[in-house]
Parts: sequence; C-alpha cells; structure tokens
Amino acid sequence: MSSTLQVGGLTRCTTIDFPGELAAVVYCQGCPWQCHYCHNAALIPIQGEEQLNWQQIMDFIHQRRGLLDGIVFSGGEPTLQPALLDAMREVKQLGMKVALHTNGAYPERLNDLLPLCDWVGMDLKAPFADYHHITGCPVSGKQAQKSADLLRHSGVTHQFRTTVDPWLRDNGRLEQMQALVQSWGETLVLQTMRS
Ligand code: SF4
Repeated sequence: MSSTLQVGGLTRCTTIDFPGELAAVVYCQGCPWQCHYCHNAALIPIQGEEQLNWQQIMDFIHQRRGLLDGIVFSGGEPTLQPALLDAMREVKQLGMKVALHTNGAYPERLNDLLPLCDWVGMDLKAPFADYHHITGCPVSGKQAQKSADLLRHSGVTHQFRTTVDPWLRDNGRLEQMQALVQSWGETLVLQTMRS
C-alpha cells in the first residue's frame, strides 16, 4: 500500500459531519467490511477508480485555512490506512481540528489516532455477537467492541451511531444496542438507511 493517503472523494464544505464545526470531508479509500447497505460501495476496494492526490487535498486545505474549522476523515474506513496518522498530523499542524468517522475495525490504529482527534463518530452495526450478519466479517464484532471500549474511555468527544437496518428491528436487537450504549451513560444516535 502507498505511504500517502489513498482518497476517493472530497466534500469541500459541510455543516453536518463534524458537530458544531464547518468542515471538509476527505473520503478515504478502502474498507475491510461488506455491509449490504453500504452507500459508499465505490470506496470499499483498496484501489478505487476515482483516486485523488493527497498533496492536492493538502493544497486545498491550505487555501481554506481560516475559512474551515476542521477536516473530517471518513470512508470507506479511514483507519485501514497507516498513512492516516501522518495525514491527521499534517492537518493539525495547520491549526485545524480533526474528526474521524470509523467503524472501529482497527482498534490498535484507533488507539494511536485518538490523541489527534477532536471528535469521533463510530458506527455500531449490530449487537457485537451479531456483527457478521451486517458486515460479512467474522471478527468484526470483536474488533468493534475493542474500539468502542477505547473510544468511550478516551476522553475524546464522540458519538455512537447506528444505521437502522430492518434486521436490527427483529428480536430486540436495536433495543439491546440502545441499552448497551445507555449503560455507558451515552445515547445511540439512529440513522435511517438510505435507499
Ligand atoms: S463499514 Fe461503512 S464503508 Fe465499510 S462496507 Fe460497511 S457501510 Fe460501507
């Protein structure tokens, strides 16, 4: 894999992806999971068809200093790429805030990235024991559980959120997830599935 961040898309300005901040969103290429409802399927392969050059994105970010509050790293799954750490450092060196959208697939990398994050949104896919039904990956529940534990004890402002797949409404799965997050003293944010 290249040592520079592989990027598949850029939103130049958003008010909804980084709470309270005006931000740009960098869509990182690649995701290890295969959720059937994925609305960014073009970002799942490690090499995408629409690759953007990280240096050009940094040039854009330089131009927006003072206009944007921060940069959101989304995906795909940003933590798949070891290059994310340096990319976040570059953004922080410009005095801008950093947000991360993650599925928690790489807890060790998340642990290294958290000190650089001003806000993290983590997707919870299902009760941890049932994760593979959504992600197609047998170890995904364990990975996500580790990441959720790291995040909730990190001191970083964050949000746990869930895309409400109809399957989660069966057998009390969604209620189970809500009760778990509530037991952490937090509220699970529900997102409707895009058709
Ligand atoms: S974790 Fe996100 S990016 Fe990856 S397959 Fe699932 S919905 Fe798509």
